[in-house]
Amino acid sequence: MASKLQIHVGDVAIGGGAPVAVQTMTKTETANLPATMEQIRTVADAGADIVRVAVPREQDAQALKTIVAESPIPVIADIHFNHTLALKAIEAGAHCVRLNPGNIGGPEKVAEVIALAKRHATPLRVGVNSGSLPKHLRQLEYDNPVEALVTAAVETVALMESLEFTDFKISMKSTSVPNTIASNRILAERIPYPLHLGVTEAGTKWSGSLKSAVGLGTLLADGIGDTIRISLSTFHAEEEVKVAWEILKALRLRERGPDLIACPTCGRLQFDMDTVVAEVERRLEAYEDPIEVSVLGCAVNGIGEARHADFGITGAKDMGMIYSKGEPLKKVPTGQLVEELFKEIDLYYAAGKKVQRDEAAAAEARAWLAENEDLTAMTPERIAALEAAAAEQDELAGTVLDSMLAPAGSAENGDPDAAPLDEELSPVAGRRFTRS
Ligand code: SF4
Repeated sequence: MASKLQIHVGDVAIGGGAPVAVQTMTKTETANLPATMEQIRTVADAGADIVRVAVPREQDAQALKTIVAESPIPVIADIHFNHTLALKAIEAGAHCVRLNPGNIGGPEKVAEVIALAKRHATPLRVGVNSGSLPKHLRQLEYDNPVEALVTAAVETVALMESLEFTDFKISMKSTSVPNTIASNRILAERIPYPLHLGVTEAGTKWSGSLKSAVGLGTLLADGIGDTIRISLSTFHAEEEVKVAWEILKALRLRERGPDLIACPTCGRLQFDMDTVVAEVERRLEAYEDPIEVSVLGCAVNGIGEARHADFGITGAKDMGMIYSKGEPLKKVPTGQLVEELFKEIDLYYAAGKKVQRDEAAAAEARAWLAENEDLTAMTPERIAALEAAAAEQDELAGTVLDSMLAPAGSAENGDPDAAPLDEELSPVAGRRFTRS
């Protein structure tokens, strides 16, 4: 259900099956060029494909020309209420202009912006917002907020098409996660244009990230959404970018940088894993390759579920172990685990992505693991594995039982020609066993 049509914001393709683009918005006063450019470079380094800047004043529109020229990624000018600023943004070379046709001053002003956008081949992001729906949809908004959002979006699309303009993406913003999901699901069925996804005013880094992960993650998992922005109440726009990437990486939609796996810890933990995980996460930011790195709190579980990790550490009170793809590499004092882990990772890259093994050190580590691993311990990982196995057994037993209870010659009993059992007419009606 990815959008059928594709547009380009600068050199970034949006929609039509292109990778989901990550965008964010600067939080500086746009006309403050040093601050704005520094933030743009920071978000670009963090992985933003596109950046949006607010253009509420004349001086912001004037600054755009320099920003567009110096930005390493395409720039979207964010305009509300003032169509003159939209015209100036297009003339300044903005790679895209965001506006809500409902608040720009009427259809003539929208038409004026579209005419100039066509001349400059500037795409637009048009959108509707649950907080500012047109007056004629107020009652519908009260009765059915999802349908009101979708109707406003479809009316916006109709306006664009009536002006013979198709170079746009569209967004429907709501602070409600269920409404964001429901409205975008409906709109994706009704229009072919790329969709920009976001949960508006999502909240703080913690709650906003979770709301966005649930809302956007649900839609992206359905194949809906062509570009995303995570709105967080933080001055550090790069945090929004990091969250966006974690969502895309979790869904395996895009790859960027290492994937860190860490156990949740439990009463078996004997070292300061919080600090170790934070340090590993921080140092991994310097790597671009999508390697998988795992941190386990103890060796009781062996290498456990982190067997597939490219590199990992498992700690204990005084000593820990470094491993790769399920094979021990060496044992090291707990205080040196992080340092030694990164030594191994760097050796791997220096050797052209080949794990460097010292057999003597590996044998020592294997012996340490054998001493510390407790095959009888009920670790969270083993309990989860036992539960999964039990569920599989249950399912299998259920299938066998159903087959045994079905009358001979029935479809359930493997006879492909048999008619489905009619519960009313069947001679075994009322005598079938049911499992609780
Ligand atoms: S048993 Fe599992 S969850 Fe507990 S510390 Fe060890 S690896 Fe972590």
